[in-house]
Amino acid sequence: MKNILVTGGAGFIGSNFIIKQINETENIIINYDKLTYAGNLENLDEVENNTRYKFINGDICDQKRIKAIIERFKPNVIINFAAESHVDRSIDGPDQFIETNIVGTYIILNQALKYYEKIKSNKDFRFIHISTDEVFGSLKNTGYFTEKTPYDPSSPYSASKASSDHLVRAWFRTYGFPTIITNCSNNYGSFQFPEKLIPLMIINCLKNKPLPVYGTGTNIRDWLFVEDHCDAINTVLNKGRIGETYNIGGNNEKTNIEIVHMICDTLDKLKPQKSGKSYRENVAFVKDRPGHDFRYAINATKIQKELGWFPKESFESGIAKTIKWYLSNKKWWENIINKKYQQQRLGVYNND
Ligand code: NAD
Repeated sequence: MKNILVTGGAGFIGSNFIIKQINETENIIINYDKLTYAGNLENLDEVENNTRYKFINGDICDQKRIKAIIERFKPNVIINFAAESHVDRSIDGPDQFIETNIVGTYIILNQALKYYEKIKSNKDFRFIHISTDEVFGSLKNTGYFTEKTPYDPSSPYSASKASSDHLVRAWFRTYGFPTIITNCSNNYGSFQFPEKLIPLMIINCLKNKPLPVYGTGTNIRDWLFVEDHCDAINTVLNKGRIGETYNIGGNNEKTNIEIVHMICDTLDKLKPQKSGKSYRENVAFVKDRPGHDFRYAINATKIQKELGWFPKESFESGIAKTIKWYLSNKKWWENIINKKYQQQRLGVYNND
């Protein structure tokens, strides 16, 4: 049984991770989250009353608070999901990305190291940093990101995540702090905030709104079902080697327009429009965003060979589950989009 401090656990991936941990392990989870626009406690309704789960509202940039939380709960694992995660928002306003993703990671590393120095005899202690394949920049038509690919981030978001990865690696090399970094491809699944491509397109179809697609929709992403990502993190937690980095991906490369068409075609069957027209007719190509990476693709051989993790879900089965989840959880996404301060941004931002 592990005592895990999760940061950012009220967001998309963190909440999926916590639900799986509570349902499938004996581990205790402390969820420390600032509840920014992207954090939503409704995601965790299912585990809210479980005695092995506790929520604490707080900011990873609050040094005193982080120190107190670590000393109080004495975690043997810290998993850092907390981040500003949306590329488009990072272009409009990088400040919060620098603050949370870089300064926040530094603060939690610093306090976790002070704590670790007192409990060094605990060989199980791990600091796991959840990062993205976007730190590697953009690929052309061929090739894959491996753990050895040089960092070459393009956006304020990916640059801030790259900086945080460098800090985490430096804490291992300089102080012997037992860190592991994971760099994952684009996730999709339940509880994803509806500014990201897949939920935005599903919801815009259901609300009969235009489906905004950047440029010509030919940018390629490598998609992974969120529960497969959570299983990969659990595998890293149990079997990962300290000081290492693991790339995580589903080998599911798709162009944005392919994704949008798949969503339209599935909804044409599950929820046909009264007019009889296909949702595809709602696609509206919009001006591309600056610095838009052309292609991401992960080589996940290391985690597969060394740790034995493989994704369970195919893209076809995962996207079908995801679309059905949004159809059955209308109240969840309506609650989010009805919050006025978010409304102006929804429908404008449409990507990873
Ligand atoms: P998200 O935006 O859905 O959730 C982020 C969570 O962090 C929210 O609950 C938010 O309230 C919290 N948070 C933000 N700033 C905080 C702060 N200063 N202190 C404490 N909590 C704070 O993000 P996500 O999609 O769940 O991503 C989680 C992590 O995984 C991020 O680090 C992201 O870079 C990484 N990642 C995401 C993807 C993806 O496709 N979504 C892919 C690879 C890696």
